[in-house]
Amino acid sequence: MPTSRKQAAAAIHYRIEPADLFAHIFRITLTIPEPGAAQEVSLPVWIPGSYLVREFSKNLQGLTAHQGKREVGLTQVDKNKWQADARAGSPLVLTYSVCAYDSSVRTAWLDAARGFFNGTSVCLRVHGQERQRHTLEIASTAATAAWSVATGLAAVKVDNKGFGLYGAVSYDELVDCPVEMGTFWSGRFKACGVPHRFVVAGAAPSFDGKRLLADAQKICEANIRFWHGEGRAPFKNYLFLLNAVGDGYGGLEHRNSTALICGRRELPRLGEARASEGYTTLLGLISHEYFHTWNVKRLRPSEFAEYDYSRENYTELLWFFEGFTSYYDDLLLRRAGLIDDATYLRLITKTIHQVLQTPGRAIQTVAQASFDAWVKYYRQDENTPNATVSYYTKGSLVALCLDLALRRGGKTTLDAVMRALWVRCQGGPMTQDDLRSELKTLSGRSFDGEIAQWVHSTAELPLAELLAAHGVQLRAETAQWAQQLGLRVAENHSVQIKTVLRGGLAEKAGMAAGDEWLGVDVNGQGWRITKLEDVAFYAGAERSITALVARDGRLLRLDLVMPAHSGAAATKKAPSALPAPKTPDTISLSITDAAAVGRWLH
Ligand SMILES: [Zn+2]
Repeated sequence: MPTSRKQAAAAIHYRIEPADLFAHIFRITLTIPEPGAAQEVSLPVWIPGSYLVREFSKNLQGLTAHQGKREVGLTQVDKNKWQADARAGSPLVLTYSVCAYDSSVRTAWLDAARGFFNGTSVCLRVHGQERQRHTLEIASTAATAAWSVATGLAAVKVDNKGFGLYGAVSYDELVDCPVEMGTFWSGRFKACGVPHRFVVAGAAPSFDGKRLLADAQKICEANIRFWHGEGRAPFKNYLFLLNAVGDGYGGLEHRNSTALICGRRELPRLGEARASEGYTTLLGLISHEYFHTWNVKRLRPSEFAEYDYSRENYTELLWFFEGFTSYYDDLLLRRAGLIDDATYLRLITKTIHQVLQTPGRAIQTVAQASFDAWVKYYRQDENTPNATVSYYTKGSLVALCLDLALRRGGKTTLDAVMRALWVRCQGGPMTQDDLRSELKTLSGRSFDGEIAQWVHSTAELPLAELLAAHGVQLRAETAQWAQQLGLRVAENHSVQIKTVLRGGLAEKAGMAAGDEWLGVDVNGQGWRITKLEDVAFYAGAERSITALVARDGRLLRLDLVMPAHSGAAATKKAPSALPAPKTPDTISLSITDAAAVGRWLH
C-alpha cells in the first residue's frame, strides 16, 4: 500500500472542468508533484493519426504557475512551450483555459449540448516526465449535472455517470484516449469475449441503436479473427465515440477507442429493412478505424516508434498503414456478411475512379504522397488533383494488386502476409524491408519489382489483368461530362469551377479555378446555365462554343471545344493497364466467374 500511495502521489495530475459552456471554455489545473528547476511544459502541435501541424496552443489562454502561495515566473520559449522558474522540492501548479470550439474529432469542443476533448488539445506535456503515471480528474458542474462521461482511459474512482478520476501509464496513453461528455446514447456488446461500448451523441429519435450494435459486433469479430484467428485481441476493452451531426464525416484511431463523426441521416433507422448507402459508408468507417487498432496504432512505421509532439513526424509508409487499412475496411464488411459481392465491387469501382480521375498520379508516387502528407494531403487546394495522389485510394489499390498477385501465385494471400508482419514485428514498429521480407518468405519469390513499380514510381497499376485472373472484367467507358471537360465544379445557382484538371478541354479553353461559369454562346445565341449538363443541352451537336465566365469582376468569353461525345456511355476496348493520365476515364467492373470472386472475397 505505501508503494501505491507513493505512486499515486507522484502522478502528474490534471483537473479538467467544463467551466463555461457558452464561452466554450475548459478550465485546467495541472499539478506537477516534482518539478525540475527550470521545468518546461508544452502543448503538442499535432495529434497522431492526422498529419498536419495544427498548433493547438492557439486555443490556450491565461497560463499561470504557483508553488504554494508563491507565483512562479513563466517564460514563453516558443509558440507552444513555456519554462517555469520553479524550485525543486515543492509541487508546481499550473492553471490555464482552453477555448474548445472545433467540432472535428481532432481537437476539443464544448457547448451547452456536449463536450469532447483529446489530451493533445488540453493537457500540457511535462518535459522529462512523460513516462510517469498521469491522472485525469474530470469535474462536473451544476450546468453539466445531467451529463455522463465516456473514455478509453482506465477509471480509478468515478461516479455512476463517469465523472471522477482516471489514470494513464504515460503521457502517450493519456493523450491517446479522447473523452466525450454529454447526454449521449450508449450500448454495449462483446466481440470474441472482449467488452465493447458504443456511444452516440446527437442521434435523431429514429436511430436504431440495436442494429448499430449488432453490425458493429460483426465488424469487430471479423477484425479480431482476421488478426488472431481464435486467439485474443491485444486490448481489454474498446470504446466507439460517435458524434452524429447535420453534415460531417471522419474518424481518428486510438489504441483502445476511436472518435467518429457522421451525418445524422447516415445512422440506421428503426423499421428500415435495407442498409442505406450512407449507412454502408458509416460501417466502412467503423471497420477502417477499428482495423487501425492493429495497423498503425500497434504495428506502425518505425518513425512512429516514439511520437515527437513538437514537429512533423515524416514517414513514407502511409500507403501501407492508410492504404491497406482502406483495402481491408470494406473487404471485412463483405467477410462479416454486411454487404454482398456486387456492393463490394461497386465500392472498388468508386476507388478506381477516384485514382483515375486524378492527373496527379502521374506526378507523385504514393510513397512521396505519404511523406508530403503534412503539406499536401492535409492542405488541399485547387491544384491538389493535378499534383498529388491519395495514399488512401491508390494505397488501397496497391493492396488489392498485391493480394490478387499473391493469390494468383497460389502460395499465400495478403491476409497471411499481414498476420506474419504482426508476428515478425511483435505488433510494433516496422519498415518497408519487413514487408518485402515477408512477401518473399510467404510467396516464394521477391516482390521488390512490384513494390518499386507500384509504390515508388508513377506507373499505372495492372488492375485489369489481375482482376481478370480472379473472375472480374474491367472495362473502360466514356467518362462523365465534367470529367471529359476536365473540370470539378460546384453547382449552386451557377456553375462554380473548383479545379481545372491537367490537360483537359477546359484548361485548353483558359478556364481557371475560381471562375463562375454563367452561360454559353452557341451560333450567336446566348444561354444562361445553372448546371454543367446545361452546356451539353444547349450545345447540341455543335463542337465549338463560347463560354461566358465571370472572373475577378470581369466577364470573359472563352472559346471551348466540346468533347467528341456528350451522350450515353460508349464502351471501348479494355486496356491492359489503366488509361494514360492525359485522358482521365471511367471504368466498370463485372463478374465473369462468380466462383473465382468467391474464393477471393470470402
Ligand atoms: Zn485511416
